[in-house]
Parts: sequence; structure tokens; C-alpha cells
Amino acid sequence: MEILFASNNPHKLEEAQAILGPSFQVVSPASRGLRGDLPETCDTLRGNSVQKASAVWNHFQADCFADDTGLEIDALGGAPGVHTARYAGEDKDPAANRRRVLEELQGVPFEKRTARFRCVVSLIEDGRLSVFEGVCEGHIAFQESEGVQGFGYDSIFLAEGLDVTLAEISIEAKNALSHRGKAMRMLQCHLLKKHGSSSCI
Ligand code: IMP
Repeated sequence: MEILFASNNPHKLEEAQAILGPSFQVVSPASRGLRGDLPETCDTLRGNSVQKASAVWNHFQADCFADDTGLEIDALGGAPGVHTARYAGEDKDPAANRRRVLEELQGVPFEKRTARFRCVVSLIEDGRLSVFEGVCEGHIAFQESEGVQGFGYDSIFLAEGLDVTLAEISIEAKNALSHRGKAMRMLQCHLLKKHGSSSCI
């Protein structure tokens, strides 16, 4: 089954395809001619997630889903939160974002570096909205790792139970424990049930 993912981020598209599996063919708006950033001007992850899905639904009138993800760092009062993509500026530079986080946490001991990724997935099918949320708890590392897997803040995030960052593990290992993996398995289950399959976890 083909389904539109309201994202033009190649890392997210790859993760979504790996999570949803071969029963689904994940396609991007760009591959259908809608290029560039989708609107995300709301002040909540849920608002942005619904906004992106709605933009793609309105454009194509086809079933689609979107995700919006935030990193919540307890020692920073939950920041960057909804501002995660633009934490160091409007150009959404991931390296600058990571640098800002590490600078702001200078001197903060490991036990106070608790953080989580929160991912909100919005599905619009036949014009109806469903929302799924996944959380991945962990800590912010003291320095960036040299791992080259993943994207965004992965190289400074130590998921609970791991002593390496998300940038040092395979996409399959990340998807098994990540915020996006959790939210998208709920989405997968919802879609499989709707299409008559009982094979969801
Ligand atoms: P958005 O959901 O595309 O708005 O992403 C928000 C910000 O979080 C961007 O800076 C992304 O690079 C970052 N981000 C989203 N998902 C992940 C992830 O799975 N790992 C690390 N960073 C992420």
C-alpha cells in the first residue's frame, strides 16, 4: 500500500520505510512534485504535526501522515521542545543546534542531563485525523560522538540503557527503541487493522 509521508527529510523517510515495512510504500511530497519545507508555525508538536499532514492532505487529497519531533531537556526547562529544529537559528543547522545544547549544559552533571525525544505522528485518512505519540528517554552526552548514523541530535543523545549515542547504532537498532519507532508502530498497527490484517504487534 502506498502512503504519503509529509516530510522531505531523507533520514525520516528512510526510518519510516524501515519501521512500516514492505507492506507499505512510503512516498514523499517531493516525489509527487511538492517540494520545500512544509508549514510548521504552531506552538506545540501536535499542532505542527497536524499542520504538516493537513498541508499535504489539502494539496493531494490523498491519505498521508506527518511527524513532528521535539527534544526536551530537563535542565533547560524542557527546551528546545517545539523549537528543536531552529534552536540555533532559522537556518535549522543541526551542528549549530547540537553545539548550542552542549554549551548550555556545560558544567551540568550526568544525572541532571536527562532528556527525551517526543514524536507526534498525525495520520489523515479519508479526511479523518488520528494522532500517535512516541517517547524515547535518555541523557545528553558531554560531547558529540563520532557516530555517523542517524541525523539531527542523534550524536549527542544517549538513549536509556545504551552507553553509545543514537548516531552509533544501526537504523534498525534506533527504530527498535526510538520515539519515531514507537509512534510509527502504532500508526502501522492502525493501518494494518484498517486493511483487515491481524498481524500487528
Ligand atoms: P522536525 O520534526 O522535522 O521539525 O524536527 C525537529 C528537529 O529535531 C530537527 O532539528 C531534527 O533534526 C531533529 N530530529 C527529529 N527527529 C530526530 C531524531 O530521530 N533524532 C535526532 N534528531 C531528530
